[in-house]
Amino acid sequence: GKGGVGKSTTAVNLALALAAEGSKVGILDADIYGPSQPRMLGLSGQPDSEDGKSLEPMENYGLQAMSIGFLIDEETPMIWRGPMVTQALEQLLSDTKWRDLDYLVIDLPPGTGDIHLSIMQKISVNGSVVVSTPQIVAMADARKGISMFKQENINIPVLGVIENMSYFTPPDIDDKKYYIFGKDGVKNLSEDFDIAFLGEIPIIQSLRESGDVGRPGVMQEGSELTKIFNEITKKIIINLTKRNKNLPPTEILKIKTMAGCSS
Ligand code: ADP
Repeated sequence: GKGGVGKSTTAVNLALALAAEGSKVGILDADIYGPSQPRMLGLSGQPDSEDGKSLEPMENYGLQAMSIGFLIDEETPMIWRGPMVTQALEQLLSDTKWRDLDYLVIDLPPGTGDIHLSIMQKISVNGSVVVSTPQIVAMADARKGISMFKQENINIPVLGVIENMSYFTPPDIDDKKYYIFGKDGVKNLSEDFDIAFLGEIPIIQSLRESGDVGRPGVMQEGSELTKIFNEITKKIIINLTKRNKNLPPTEILKIKTMAGCSS
């Protein structure tokens, strides 16, 4: 989706919700120009490397993570042309030594560009999740994202859409909802494309604050945020399981080959 709609926030919170279910989860920050996962996960420093080439994922809160942000100073602007960006991404994809993952969540940059294409060409992606606010300009980009995944030569299942920043409830007037970016836009969009609506996330100050201090909001046990992300995660798992059951044998073979399985 569009920049600033909450893709990275959603990705890290979903990854942690998956991990809380007992799965081994990794997150790959594919936003080469603007990596935000190191900060959101409270991680700094450089990944270890046994042979000077491979990269050991960094880890916090039980989540494995890799990002260009671990390899380059936070203040350094990435003034790179397309091929360099693709090369950096390919390095992260091929050199990271993930440890026994059940899920790899990939946090994509905005738009539908080189990085998206590279990922879709290099690895077999089980499903995509599109995040948008209900604002018209944001939904225009979400539509493009969905159409990209649905293209015949790409054909990555869209497991659903998430509406972020759906409304704001002032903490001192808790029966009121302000629809700052419009109402039900993403729900309508999901109906237009006949894809699942995974849920809505309100504007919550503590979600922003928790991202900034490197302790994602979903970790506030028993909170409204935890409930919301757990619900969304459950729906994603259900849709993913359905999708995997319907995989054609050729696709299963491709995935096994990529994962290095012999049978
Ligand atoms: P993107 O990855 O799409 O560029 P981010 O996840 O970086 O967007 O989010 C942009 C900003 O909005 C961040 O500061 C984040 O903390 C904040 N944010 C995202 N979702 C919410 C929300 N539901 N409530 C409050 N702040 C949010």
